[in-house]
Amino acid sequence: MARFLIQSSFVYNSSSSVDLHKSSSTTRILKTQLRFLEVEQPHLRLLNLPSCNSTLKPKAAKEPMTLTKEKVDEKEMSAVTGRESNEFITLKHRFLNFKKDKYLKNLEHYQSLADEQSPKFLVISCADSRVCPSNILGLQPGEAFVVRNIANLVPPYETGPSETQAALEFSVNTLKVENILVIGHSRCGGIRALMSMDDETNSSFIRNWVIVGKSARTSTKAVASNLSFDQQCKHCEKESVNRSLMSLLTYPWIKEKMNKGELLIHGGYYDFIDCSFEKWTLENNSRVGDEVSIRNREFWS
Ligand SMILES: [Zn+2]
Repeated sequence: MARFLIQSSFVYNSSSSVDLHKSSSTTRILKTQLRFLEVEQPHLRLLNLPSCNSTLKPKAAKEPMTLTKEKVDEKEMSAVTGRESNEFITLKHRFLNFKKDKYLKNLEHYQSLADEQSPKFLVISCADSRVCPSNILGLQPGEAFVVRNIANLVPPYETGPSETQAALEFSVNTLKVENILVIGHSRCGGIRALMSMDDETNSSFIRNWVIVGKSARTSTKAVASNLSFDQQCKHCEKESVNRSLMSLLTYPWIKEKMNKGELLIHGGYYDFIDCSFEKWTLENNSRVGDEVSIRNREFWS
């Protein structure tokens, strides 16, 4: 059974946490007000289009009349959107706000990203709609290559191909990311399915996937069988992250880059019940047999 040795205590700065909360609240309020203004007065969007370098005009900036017509023709817009679902109307507004507030205001950056990406992170997180790593960690376009699957599992190198393994190969060997971050989370339905599945259960897509985390289930039941089922699931949510970190070490090119100091491997746990985030880093050359040590454990709250 694998054990994880905590070599340094977590770092928690309560004062900076307070400031961060204040800053986030202020930002949220301002963004809310701005969004309200834009939705209620769409014509104002036309006033702030940035002046563009003539050599660097994207397709979007070359078609201001298309954008203008769409914004000012309320009747036409109403007729079109009247056939759309409310959900897509919301998405449309959000996209147009993104285009105006971020894309067009940071044109050179987004044009550079259009040519190539060079993310520092590969993030592996659950497909759960409440997790959303870009949102909770503020990862901007170009900063993280992200793969999401049920229960944020990493299959070992020896198993058959999966989209997660393809993402690992591309991001590590081609994009040369410098960090891999596997994020687990509270109340994970995939982990719950893993913990509650019967070995005799008939095959299903979900079962055939979450079985990847079987070793986390086995070790959880070994050390936490006296706990309630909910508590066992919470234990397994973190244990499965550590198991996934160990699985990463079975990939020879990941192990090699880690040993050379070119790649760091991190675990994370997002608790959306109390909105806290735990992060830790795998020790270089740490694996001896089935034992791995971790460092730089931090708790953000
Ligand atoms: Zn999940």
